[in-house]
Amino acid sequence: MTKVPTTDLARCVRQVKALVRAGCGLVRIAVPRRADTQALAQIVAKVEVPLIADIHFSPARAIEAIEAGAAKIRLNPGNIKNPDDIHRIIDAAKAHRVAIRIGVNEASIRDLKQAPVPSEHRTGLMLEEMRGYIRQFEERGFDQLVLSAKSADTLRTIEVNRAIADAFAYPIHLGLTHAGLPEDARVPSAVALGTLLAEGIGDTIRVSAAGDPTIETGIARQILVALGLRERTRPELIVCPTCGRTEIDVVKLARHVERALRRVAKPCRVAVMGCVVNGPGEAADADVAICAAREKAFLYVRGRKVTILAESEIVPRLLAAIAEL
Ligand code: SF4
Repeated sequence: MTKVPTTDLARCVRQVKALVRAGCGLVRIAVPRRADTQALAQIVAKVEVPLIADIHFSPARAIEAIEAGAAKIRLNPGNIKNPDDIHRIIDAAKAHRVAIRIGVNEASIRDLKQAPVPSEHRTGLMLEEMRGYIRQFEERGFDQLVLSAKSADTLRTIEVNRAIADAFAYPIHLGLTHAGLPEDARVPSAVALGTLLAEGIGDTIRVSAAGDPTIETGIARQILVALGLRERTRPELIVCPTCGRTEIDVVKLARHVERALRRVAKPCRVAVMGCVVNGPGEAADADVAICAAREKAFLYVRGRKVTILAESEIVPRLLAAIAEL
């Protein structure tokens, strides 16, 4: 999702393109004001990727976004009180062949009831709310739906999405709400989204983290690569955990290598190991491995020892070996 004002066209288009380069296949854009849906029409014309308009409370914004060329709109029908407004949005989406992602989230269930809902009832209530929304759309003859049920809670996210996948045949969008700073968002996102995706649940995903949205995309991509759902496009760095045999500062060397690898756009496995006793064996499946000893390192390419390097030669020779793969 973009995180700059939608009306700041140049920055918004730049951010959409950065997200696509980072691996996004869909980009969501907030359109809270009329000026934003006007900007959306111009952004659609400048980018290749499908754009999703993020609607909160305004039926007018939803219809404007549909007419502006959004590929999909994201809507929480619970925020739009008048059924006639929902019908007008559905009719516009049908006319323009635009999909609608309908969402329920745990927080809105609480609001709806005006009182805390016991934890064990929340998944059932979210499911029932989703069922009601789906019925409203289907009764109007609309089935281009994507479903999303969000919570800030990892286990709730897993539970409610399993229930939704069991109950309905529509595509599902996965995400955790406000997952945190990037370092805090990584683990809950990987657990919730990874568990569901490994079970075959989920058609689109979004990792939420405060700050630069390309970091969110990076985390999402790591989850997909770990599950074998995306090809690796960049080097994978393996670093031994270190132990009593380690004679050098492995973390320092690995950080140095990691920085150098940021410039490499080749899928390969690179290992940095802390000794020459077990290192070569433990890095046997690496394309290129550095097995370090005091003030020197052994360079292995595809399991074969190639040469011994002085400390200053390690990174340049490693990069050269990767280039030759
Ligand atoms: S590679 Fe060597 S230093 Fe690293 S964990 Fe294994 S045995 Fe220890």
